Amino acid sequence: MTIILDGNKLSQEIRSEIQLNLANFQLAKTNPPKLSVILVGEDPASSVYVRNKERACTSAGILTETFNIPADVSEEYVINQIQELNQNVQVNGILVQLPLPPHINETTVISAISPSKDVDGIHPYNLGKLAQGEPIFVPCTPLGIQQILVRHNISIPGKHVVVCGRSNIVGKPIANLLMQRGPDANATVTVCHSQTRNLQLLTSNADILIAAIGQPNFITEDMVKEDVSIIDVGINRIPDSSKKNGYRLVGDVDFINVEKKAHAITPVPGGVGPMTITMLLNNTVKSWIIQNNLSGDVA
Ligand code: NDP
Repeated sequence: MTIILDGNKLSQEIRSEIQLNLANFQLAKTNPPKLSVILVGEDPASSVYVRNKERACTSAGILTETFNIPADVSEEYVINQIQELNQNVQVNGILVQLPLPPHINETTVISAISPSKDVDGIHPYNLGKLAQGEPIFVPCTPLGIQQILVRHNISIPGKHVVVCGRSNIVGKPIANLLMQRGPDANATVTVCHSQTRNLQLLTSNADILIAAIGQPNFITEDMVKEDVSIIDVGINRIPDSSKKNGYRLVGDVDFINVEKKAHAITPVPGGVGPMTITMLLNNTVKSWIIQNNLSGDVA
């Protein structure tokens, strides 16, 4: 029977582990970890994501504060805000919610975050360390994917992993992460994108298929082999008149038809999404552990 890789359940388990860890540390009278979030503008989706992150932090015992900055501020203003947080010893993690308004350069802003507080793992230093095989903060979605595989005993070493998508936040870092030397990696990785020829030939060769494309139900039954393990990163809205809001969320994989062929598969919603937020908590605790010279068991 196909294993449904339940990201909600796994997230709860990991969040309980984080809570327990923090409770033990608090006995030692250490201040709790703190995450600072910068939200520029009022994009409704970004506001929802930030609220979800705040709630997750609070329930795990992580302090959080959000700086709501109007959309028309200058890039310099945002960078000054980041620099203040870089200097603040009470702050362990800094997250800038993306996307930023068009007049603000995302790369410049992300590069202003101190790499030691970059809990999103997207500062060029942290991406470079990951590419070198010496990761410190791994981007949250790729780290969540690795945890889904490892904690469901889906062995990675020697497997052919095919990644569809080459973005800086998902495709490239998950490829780097799983090709590293190490027991939770050591995969042979193929990365595909919109210019890839014979995509079906490659996807149907995958032992583990990771779809991060952003196109609803793109991966169909004829594109995968029997017993493949599938991680569906995609979050796509498709019209659905039976829903109050008029849409529903689907992944990049045609779940209903592909599921029956797979050894294991993540659902959408409820697969990778919750794990992304949980890995933000993980990385914030990791930063706090490093900054306070503590020892702790985090990914
Ligand atoms: P991007 O839009 O940045 O990248 C999409 C990638 O897919 C590109 O590399 C593109 O190729 C490739 N692609 C597009 N069309 C095809 C095609 N026909 N065949 C093969 N490859 C193709 O997306 P993200 O990585 O940011 O996000 C991907 C999806 O994952 C989205 O649905 C997003 O909402 C979701 N997401 C979910 C997260 C979660 O927590 N669950 C977190 C982050 C993203 P090219 O480079 O050539 O353009």
